[in-house]
Amino acid sequence: MNDQLWRGTAFSGQFRVLAVSSTQTAQTMRDLHDLSPVNTLLLGKMIPAVAMLSMDLKLAEGEVSLRVDGDGPLKGALVICSGSGDLRGYALEPRLWLDDAEANLFPVRALGTGTLSVIRGFPNKKPVTGTTVLSEGELALNLAHYFDQSEQIPSVVNLGVLIDKTAAVRASGGFIIQQMPDADPKLADELTAALSRTPNVSDLMDMGLSLPEILKRFVVKESELELTPAGPIQYRCNCSRERFERALLLLGEEELSTMREGIEPQCHFCNATYCFSAEDMNTLIATLKDKP
Ligand SMILES: [Zn+2]
Repeated sequence: MNDQLWRGTAFSGQFRVLAVSSTQTAQTMRDLHDLSPVNTLLLGKMIPAVAMLSMDLKLAEGEVSLRVDGDGPLKGALVICSGSGDLRGYALEPRLWLDDAEANLFPVRALGTGTLSVIRGFPNKKPVTGTTVLSEGELALNLAHYFDQSEQIPSVVNLGVLIDKTAAVRASGGFIIQQMPDADPKLADELTAALSRTPNVSDLMDMGLSLPEILKRFVVKESELELTPAGPIQYRCNCSRERFERALLLLGEEELSTMREGIEPQCHFCNATYCFSAEDMNTLIATLKDKP
């Protein structure tokens, strides 16, 4: 089945529910960047997280980025999702393999001391960034902490990724349940208790259950849950020769003059290479000279 988002409510609107299946998107990113297992385990959870964050964008042209940075060997990663469900990203140390085999199972620990940031951007507007300090443990807990600290929305977050021995992605997905201001606190406690009894979401997906089935069976009774499909997500980069041209022009005449021989920049997100010959570079430099 293709990757997709769901949106809904539980208990007559007292809670907001977001869910996503992202197995294929995670696999595409793994293949594209030849990710090592520790990176696949990190990005396989960042992908469903940022996909669900994108559901608040309202505008298709908006973009939300989820980035983690740390002083540990894994260093960090960035995933961006547009309001139309196009996702792209990269890891800073994509092929990292830690000597202690078990350590490869704990990506957040391998990030070391660092931060988690959510950046929302819209065309022609200054991006809005919220940042929290990373705590050791699951990425899901860190994201719940972010919602609590940065956006004051009590949330439970469940993210899962399952990989096989070759680091291929068997399942990636997750859900977020957010408490609305008028929610009954007793219900919130019940939901938290139900979640603590819920098996790992990626294990359940691997058994063939869809996200709506997982939520209905383990978290919220079917009669209390309203969930509707909210569109597909897919790995799709928005780079183009024109975008690279614009970025080069921003460097200015002096900087461009050092690249007169021609350059072949590569997109970090999709590995596409764009060739700018000596002639192309001279044309770009001439464009800048023509400007007042
Ligand atoms: Zn690209």
